[in-house]
Amino acid sequence: MLDLSHLRADFPILDRQVHGKPLVYLDSAATTQKPVQVLDAMDDYYRHHNANVHRGAYTMAEEATELYEGARRRVARFINAAAPEEVVFTRGTTSAINAVAYGWGLHHLQPGDRIALTTMEHHANIVPWQLVARVTGAELTYLPLTADFRVDVGAIGDVIDSRVKIVAFSGMSNVLGTIGPLAEAVAAARAVGAISVIDAAQLVPHHPTDVRAIGADFLAFSAHKMLGPTGVGALWGRRDRFEEMEPAEGGGEMIRDVQLHSSTWADLPHKFEAGTPPIAEAVGFGAAVDYLEAVGMDRVRDHEREITRYALDRLAEIPDLTVYGPDDTAQRGGAVSFTLADIHPHDLATILDQSGVAVRAGHHCAKPLMRVLDVPATARASFYLYNVPGEVDVLVAALHEARRLFGVA
Ligand code: PMP
Repeated sequence: MLDLSHLRADFPILDRQVHGKPLVYLDSAATTQKPVQVLDAMDDYYRHHNANVHRGAYTMAEEATELYEGARRRVARFINAAAPEEVVFTRGTTSAINAVAYGWGLHHLQPGDRIALTTMEHHANIVPWQLVARVTGAELTYLPLTADFRVDVGAIGDVIDSRVKIVAFSGMSNVLGTIGPLAEAVAAARAVGAISVIDAAQLVPHHPTDVRAIGADFLAFSAHKMLGPTGVGALWGRRDRFEEMEPAEGGGEMIRDVQLHSSTWADLPHKFEAGTPPIAEAVGFGAAVDYLEAVGMDRVRDHEREITRYALDRLAEIPDLTVYGPDDTAQRGGAVSFTLADIHPHDLATILDQSGVAVRAGHHCAKPLMRVLDVPATARASFYLYNVPGEVDVLVAALHEARRLFGVA
């Protein structure tokens, strides 16, 4: 197996104990741990360069602006954007999708128009569209899943027709691990003149991502799921789409001129960054991207495929355990959802915590998907570049222990 275990030394938190046991952190789909390189970059910013960006003519303000804009250049390069202006800093994936819903959807949708989603979406890629549909009279329509937890591309022709104006779908499911049919969905959207919006919250951190190759119109992701801090994320958009999009938030920094009764907008990307941005967080985001680039996203992906394969094989040894998601690691990432007999996932997570194992339990902000799976909740182990096979072994031993404790026959 590709050994990235030396990287663990960069993550101070991985040394801690929980209930007297070494922490086994298997919740990176919720948020990732931070390497010292990211912590140091943010600390250095606050200690030595803290000033507001884009306004001051003094040295520190220029330094802060350069650090902030440098982070934008890094993030843009990381996803192969054509230019840094195609990257708008947001609070995260959720606010990035809302920006498109309110900035593009609100102004382009009419009664009878449709927004096509899939049934495996996170609430962040459902609720903003429902809100905008309610105002515009548009309707939501959904691509179903196959029995083996993939988006049913055979249904694309039925769902994505000329009424559809927006196709919004996740690049990788936070529950199933399923990698979305990016090329097919983008092509189908284009064929009917719809825009495509990718919820890449789980894709960008775990899979090499080239926005120009994917060919979508918008793509959203969060720094905290890719070794960076909370409070910042990015919306990438094609320049022409950004030009035809209205700002969803108004305020300082985003204007060219303000008159008493009207205003004009600043150029990209500032048009979409109202108010003081999350400067230190963007600096941390840039450092996170540097870190991932130094490791190499191909290696991150390879490592995750290997550890996910190992986890799926070991979980298959446990009687009464059901995994929800594709088995082929070519089609999935490292979020592994499961249930164990009729033990409630919350109880399971509490038992695992006694062994130092951190997994998430619940509906994972994907209630429509839970209904498709016909379960109220699942437990989810999710992996990242710092996880090692020995941690899967601890998880598996703790699951056996849970079976014993709950008297599962
Ligand atoms: N989409 C997916 C697929 C996610 O996994 C998440 C985070 N769980 C989000 C959207 C929302 O991301 P954030 O909370 O960082 O805005």
